[in-house]
Order: sequence, then C-alpha cells, then structure tokens
Amino acid sequence: MSKVKASRTAVRLLLLAAALFFAIGGPLPVWLKRLIPALSPLTTVAESIAQRAGYAGFFWALPPLTLLVLAFWKGRFFCQHLCPLGTLYSLPQKFSLKKKLLPIRLNALIFWLVMFSSVFGLPALLFLDPLSTFNRIGIGLTWGPGLLVPAFLLLSFFQPQVWCTHLCPLGYGFDLVHRKTGKQVFNRDRRQFLAGLGIGGAAALILPKVGKKSANPSVLPPGATVKFAKTCTRCYACVSACPSKIIRIKSGGGLTELSMPELRFDHGICEEFCNRCSQVCPTGAIRTLTQSQKHSTQIGIARIEKEKCLAWADNEYCMVCDEYCSYGAIETEWHGEIACPVINQKLCRGCGGCENACPAVRAGKALLIHPLNPQTTIEGKS
Ligand code: SF4
Ligand code: SF4
Repeated sequence: MSKVKASRTAVRLLLLAAALFFAIGGPLPVWLKRLIPALSPLTTVAESIAQRAGYAGFFWALPPLTLLVLAFWKGRFFCQHLCPLGTLYSLPQKFSLKKKLLPIRLNALIFWLVMFSSVFGLPALLFLDPLSTFNRIGIGLTWGPGLLVPAFLLLSFFQPQVWCTHLCPLGYGFDLVHRKTGKQVFNRDRRQFLAGLGIGGAAALILPKVGKKSANPSVLPPGATVKFAKTCTRCYACVSACPSKIIRIKSGGGLTELSMPELRFDHGICEEFCNRCSQVCPTGAIRTLTQSQKHSTQIGIARIEKEKCLAWADNEYCMVCDEYCSYGAIETEWHGEIACPVINQKLCRGCGGCENACPAVRAGKALLIHPLNPQTTIEGKS
C-alpha cells in the first residue's frame, strides 16, 4: 500500500471512530449527537422541502450545504474520504467473495422517490439516509431500520460496498450535482427519475392510510411537531440522548409510524428541566426548545382510571401520584375520610411522574398519560 493510500485509510478510520463516539455519546456535549445525521445534504434538502421551511437554521444548514458545494467540484469526495458508513462497509472488502447479488443500481430511484415524496410532505424512505442509518449504531442492535447496518455489512462480504455503489441516495445526489458527471448521470437514469416521480407521489398519498392505527396513540417527545411521524428519519439521536431512557421504539401502528420514537413511562419520567431530545433532532421532527419552553410544554394529560385507583376504588389512603407530581397538577377530592386524586388539566404537562409512581397493581396503573398532538404551551405558571 502506498504511503498516500495508507494515510488516507488512517484518516478514514479515525473519522469512523470519531463518528462512533459521537453516535454513542458518553461524556460529550449532547449536541454532538446531532452532528453526524445533521451533516447529510439529503436529509437537510428533503426535510426543508417536506416542511416548507428552513427548519435547520443557519448554523446546522451550513455543513451539509458546504458538502453540496464541495460535490459540485469533487463529486463523491464525501463518500470516498469522510462518510463513516462508507468506511464501515469497506472494512470487509478484503475478504469479499465478489459475487454480484444485486445487479441493478437503484440509487437514482431511491433518490428521486425521496425527493418527490418530500414535495408532497412525506419524505418516504428517508430513513435510508446513510448518516441517519449510521447514527442508529448509537443505541445498539434494534429491529426495523436498526437492522440495515448489520444486513449491509454482511452483504458487503459477498458484493463489496453494495450499499454505496447500488443503493445509496446520498451518493447519487453527489453524482448528480457534480459539474462533470451530473448531466450524464441524469440522462442515464431518466427512467428511474420518472419512476421516482410516480412512486414518490403515490407513496406520500397512500402510506399514511396503510396499516392499523394503534389503539393507544403515542406520547411524543417534548417539541414534537404534528408531522413528527412523517418527518422523523429514525436516526434515534433522541433515543440515545434521553437521560431517563423513556424514549423507546414503537412497535406496531400505521405504516408512517413504524419504528418511530415514543415515550413510555414504565421506567422513568420526562424530567422537568431536560430538553436534550429537542437539542439533538437533526430533522425538525422535534423542534428545539429552551429549558423554560420545555418546562411549559404540555405533551399529554394524565387521566385517572378510577376503577383501578387504590383511593377511588378501594378506599385506601394513597395519593402517591400527588407526591411525585412536579407541577402541582394533582388535586384532592375528599370522599369521607379518603383523599382521592383529580387531575388539573391546566397544569399537567404529561411528564409521566404520576403514571410511573402509581403503585396500583390489581388492574394495572390507575394513571395513564394521553398524548396531545399538537402539543400545547401552558402560559403564565411554569
Ligand atoms: S425532555 Fe424528556 S423525553 Fe426528552 S430527553 Fe429529556 S427526559 Fe427524555
Ligand atoms: S425524532 Fe429522534 S429519531 Fe426522529 S429524526 Fe429526530 S432525533 Fe432522529
């Protein structure tokens, strides 16, 4: 191996290690978890089209736009030197059996499908973005989109870097903006452009109607927009950033909700002054909130199921929910000598403190958080 090639490989491996460190996190500033998925020009452009807004702001839009400008001159420079997923998939190259499992290149189809579905407000297949895909490593092996990395690593043992050469929509985007290859690449893949237009448009209209909506709608992270399920790329930066570990991956639900993050309060609560998930989301699916904005955000409202409640149903003294409510949203209604809890809907934030603490076991928890979508802000008291 020449010295230049060796030093290039060393730099790529170093960048891969840094990207892994950012994705996994640890004692690093939380915003670094946003860095890798937010670098993608594909995500930035598709989400801006879908949301009809420059959701990222100048600071976060600058790096992906710089990569786009770089691609105009240098084509797939990012893929060849910087992309952590590309480096990861290149690791098995030496041992590859060099079989042709996937003979057709589908990058153009995926790219145009993402773009045209974004025009209709639902960036379908954007979970395939390589940088969101890479970032999922941060939470370990999971079902759904979390299986992409191990699957393509395995495939790379048969067909070297099959993802990069045959499927990656970001790599195709770089080819397309390259001043030397762009026109040629567009002409070569004109059929896939037309297919992307048709399938992308249809997908955006049909997907929201496919699948059974779940009986229990999801409580979403504070700052989640009404387009949360459609615009989230399942990068899981929020999942790994949450110190309470209450952001979990949804199973079931409609097709647009598949594998999306949702809040569950069985092992923790949404802490009063925490806004970490809103700081790391690279797609605008969760708006950035300051700590005080987060404090006054109502993500849901607790409801008491009286037939399960130790006080209401069993005449026992309990009121544990009141002890654990940080917002004074549990009020007392006296029934004889028994204090029974009542929710003040104007104060409840849906943090899950009461649901998590409720000791009722006979028929399950007596308090459940019901989501608010859109989320609301409590004015005045905070
Ligand atoms: S705001 Fe709530 S859900 Fe988001 S990271 Fe903090 S504790 Fe987790
Ligand atoms: S909501 Fe979470 S998983 Fe979805 S894009 Fe934002 S940070 Fe990633």
